[in-house]
Amino acid sequence: MSTLSLQSLEKRYGAAPAAVDKVSLEVGQSEFVALLGPSGCGKTTILRMIAGFVEPTSGRILVDGRDVTRAPPHKRNTAMVFQSYALFPHMTVAQNVGFGLRMRRADPAEIDRRSVEALRLVQLEHLAQRYPRELSGGQQQRVAVARALIVRPDVFLLDEPLSNLDAKLRQSVGLEMRTLQQSLGLTTVFVTHDQAEALALADRLVILSEGKVAQVGSPAEVYSKPANAFVANFLGRANLLGGRIAGDREFQSDAGISIACDTSGWSAGERAILCLRPENIVIGERSAQVRNTFTAVRRSRTYQGASTEHVVQLPSGLELSVSAPSGIDETNPVFDATGNCRIGWAPESVRLLPEH
Ligand code: ATP
Repeated sequence: MSTLSLQSLEKRYGAAPAAVDKVSLEVGQSEFVALLGPSGCGKTTILRMIAGFVEPTSGRILVDGRDVTRAPPHKRNTAMVFQSYALFPHMTVAQNVGFGLRMRRADPAEIDRRSVEALRLVQLEHLAQRYPRELSGGQQQRVAVARALIVRPDVFLLDEPLSNLDAKLRQSVGLEMRTLQQSLGLTTVFVTHDQAEALALADRLVILSEGKVAQVGSPAEVYSKPANAFVANFLGRANLLGGRIAGDREFQSDAGISIACDTSGWSAGERAILCLRPENIVIGERSAQVRNTFTAVRRSRTYQGASTEHVVQLPSGLELSVSAPSGIDETNPVFDATGNCRIGWAPESVRLLPEH
C-alpha cells in the first residue's frame, strides 16, 4: 500500500501547447483514482510518466515520498495494464504471468508459486497452459491484470483496460477489478474516457481538459457540483443556459426567462452559466409542486430503455432536454395530443457556473 504524489507535472512536445500542464495530484493509500477526459487531454501521457515510459519536462513524481521522477520503469515498482493487453502470443498464460518476475531473476519455484497465486486472484488457474489466442477478450484482459499483479506493485496503472470488451463484459470485468483492487488494497490510477465506468468504479475522479486538471472530487461531488461548464457537459448531460444574475435568488437567461435559484456568492449583474440536469426537470402535474414552472411543447424524444429523453421548447424558443422514466406518458399522460406539457424544477436543483 503506497501513496502517489504528482507535483506540477508537465510534458511538452516541441512548440505545441503542453500535453500535460502542471498537473498536481495526491493519490492516497489503496485509493482508486480515475483520470477522465476527452481524447488528447493528456490521460495516457500522465500514466506513462508515472510508469516511467515518458520523461516529464518538469515536475516531480513521488511514491511513498520517494522521488522517482527520473528512475527507470523497473525501479519504480509500478505495474501497468494496457488497452491492448499486450500479451506475448508465443508464451502460455502462466509464462505471460511470470514474465515480470523472470525479468527480475526471481527463483523459478517462487515464480511458479506466485503465478498460480496471481492467476487464482483473477480466477484463471485452469487456463494456465493455454496460449493467448485460445482465450476470449475478457480472459486475456484478466491475464494482463494477473501479469501486472504478480510483481506486487506499489502503484497499479490501468490504461483503458476495458475498452476492447463488449458493453456487458466491461461492466462485470470492471466490477471484478474494483473488488480485486479493494481486497488487495492497491493504490490505483485508472485512465478512461468512459464516464459511466469512471463514475461506477472510482473513489475519486480527476477530470482533465487540454492537459489541465478541470476538477478533482468524488463521483457524486463532480456530478452534482461541476466546477465549470466543461465538466458539467463532459460528465453526464446538462442544459447550460447563459445569462446574468438579476437579483437575490434570480437568474435571467439570455433566452429571456427568469429562473429562481440560489445566487449566494454571486453579485447582481454578474454573468454566469446555469446548469440544469435533464433528470432534474419535473414533467406533468408534479411540476406544480416545484418552482420554475413553464409550459412547453415536445419537439423530439429518444427512447433509452429505462428513461426517455424529450427535447421540449419553451414559448421563448429555449429548448431543454428532459429525462423522464419511460412509460410515464402511458400511466399518467403528461403530454397532450399536440405534445404540450408543463415542466418545472426546484431552485436547489440548478447550479450556477462561471462563464470562463
Ligand atoms: P486518448 O483518449 O485519445 O488516448 P489521451 O487523453 O490519453 O487521449 P495523450 O495520448 O496523453 O491523450 O496525448 C495528449 C497530447 O499529447 C495529444 O495532443 C497528443 O497528440 C500529444 N502527444 C502524445 N504523445 C506524443 C508524442 N510522442 N509526440 C508528440 N505529441 C504527443
